[in-house]
Amino acid sequence: MIPPVFSRPVWRRPNRAPVATVGLEQNEEADLVIIGAGFQGLSTALHAARKGLSVRVIEAGRIGEGASGLNGGQVIPGLKYDPEWLLQHFGDDRGERLTAFSQTTADTVFDLITRNGLDVEHSRHGWIQAAHTETALAAAAERNRQWKARGADVTLLNDAEISFMTGASGYVGGWLDRRAGVINPLAFVLELARLAVEAGVRIADGARATKLRQENGRWTVETAAGGVVRGKTVVVASNAYSDRLVPGLALSLVPLNSFQIATAPLPLAQQDLILAHGQAVSDSRRILVYYRRSPDGRLVLGGRGRMAGPRRGEDWAHLEHALLRLFPVLAGIDIEHRWFGQVAMTADHLPHIHEPQKGLLMAAGCQGRGVGLMTALGNSFADYIECGDPATLPFPISPIRPIPLHALRQIGVAAMITWYRMLDSRER
Ligand SMILES: Cc1cc2nc3c(=O)[nH]c(=O)nc-3n(C[C@H](O)[C@H](O)[C@H](O)COP(=O)(O)OP(=O)(O)OC[C@H]3O[C@@H](n4cnc5c(N)ncnc54)[C@H](O)[C@@H]3O)c2cc1C
Repeated sequence: MIPPVFSRPVWRRPNRAPVATVGLEQNEEADLVIIGAGFQGLSTALHAARKGLSVRVIEAGRIGEGASGLNGGQVIPGLKYDPEWLLQHFGDDRGERLTAFSQTTADTVFDLITRNGLDVEHSRHGWIQAAHTETALAAAAERNRQWKARGADVTLLNDAEISFMTGASGYVGGWLDRRAGVINPLAFVLELARLAVEAGVRIADGARATKLRQENGRWTVETAAGGVVRGKTVVVASNAYSDRLVPGLALSLVPLNSFQIATAPLPLAQQDLILAHGQAVSDSRRILVYYRRSPDGRLVLGGRGRMAGPRRGEDWAHLEHALLRLFPVLAGIDIEHRWFGQVAMTADHLPHIHEPQKGLLMAAGCQGRGVGLMTALGNSFADYIECGDPATLPFPISPIRPIPLHALRQIGVAAMITWYRMLDSRER
């Protein structure tokens, strides 16, 4: 139950009839059972159904109530790591394939929207990684060099250019990646669900999967409400919201709360000054903030929040301070929406793919790029389920590795966030 001080995300729903969900019966059969109706689950469902598989999706809450309907809607290609690091870390072959995959994740999202005429506000004017120190700018220049060498439409910005594009104070320059853009994420996840249903997928919501077992080469999934479905393959697409369904999965991730605020629509005088050219921004601080304009002209800004979850409106105050540090001219503007959701952090800051037993597949950990990554991964999962060749997957399949002393790790991360915030505040 959300306390009254927290409002819903700022994103509107599509102007279409709600997706028809179908409750799970006692004894269903499907080729593929998917647990979780976010970008990962629904994109996998859509692409698998288009290949002719019968697909059942089981969602514990309502569609869009996971991270996919709550996020900032920044569609950013690439990974946290740059191409040369990926080649070094994964070797030439895997590194090249991974770079090629990560290069096209934003394309997958925008292609799905435009080719299928989805009712999703979107624009593609790029993403700025804004540097607040010379060290951060040097890192941006290195990133620019590596992607430019691969033909990506990217450019380095100086202080005047970034100030003109963002209207924000305090940056010494930045990096513009024109492959990126912004969408309404709630509309996108709901429209993905509609496309999947049109392709033959059956979605049950309000149905938490509670047990998984394998018998004679088929998986059985039981839900809290009593429905049961059997399938050859199960994809567990629960990501940061993973529970104990798959042993060790939740313990291999540190779920972090990402908080967001949205202002009232910007006053006319500010509309031509603040992000007037449609870019999304993430800054280079250790505890970064990210922001964009919403389709109805608000400023939407997000960043890390209280590990234990919010209790009152003041728990978003650090974001309101960041907003005024960047845009002092917005002093006094109303904050009309405050909300939060969970992102999954992995120990190596890379997304992980696991298949602990044959036919039981899952991916988790997107480090802030899940809109593109998880949507594109749905394509790869569908290919893998069809042909069984691990080379169709961008990341290697790895064992689930629970983080030692997981509970302490969460406390450690909370302490680290406080420490990093203090270091960031010294660099302003
Ligand atoms: C506030 C916020 C801002 C973000 N901003 C951005 C951004 O701007 N750009 C970007 O690229 N990424 C962003 N992210 C990350 C991005 O939203 C996620 O990486 C992405 O949505 C993950 O999609 P998913 O389908 O894997 O998981 P989710 O969308 O979280 O879906 C998982 C689903 O699994 C369901 N589930 C869990 N357990 C069970 C069970 N036992 N049975 C049935 N169902 C179950 C949950 O109810 C949930 O609906 C942000 C995340 C948050 C929270």
